[in-house]
Amino acid sequence: MGVEGRGKESVYTVKSGYLRLGVGGGSEGENDTVFKKLWKSKVVPSAQVTAWRMLVNKLTTKANLEKRGIRVESSMCSLCGMVEETSTHMFFECIFAWVLWSQCYGWACKMYSITIHC
Ligand SMILES: [Zn+2]
Repeated sequence: MGVEGRGKESVYTVKSGYLRLGVGGGSEGENDTVFKKLWKSKVVPSAQVTAWRMLVNKLTTKANLEKRGIRVESSMCSLCGMVEETSTHMFFECIFAWVLWSQCYGWACKMYSITIHC
């Protein structure tokens, strides 16, 4: 989870989350660090694999299925129907994803005393 600030009061931003994940703008060496951290993380293996597939854009999103020549009825997001369903959209941009993340962060705020700015 990307959190800016130190001490008891910290602030979560999307930018800090991306930077924490090493997504976007990082060099290949920095991204290697992301993958090392991912594989060493203490989460269930299925979550690690899903996160890895998201980072390397190998999730079976509608956009990726179309790229592989698989016909889909529509490439638009199944939840919001507003934009093409990509990994980035599914995890970071879709309003439905934000509702889910907000609920998770709400729990984290209570547990770790952090502040979220969306
Ligand atoms: Zn959506």
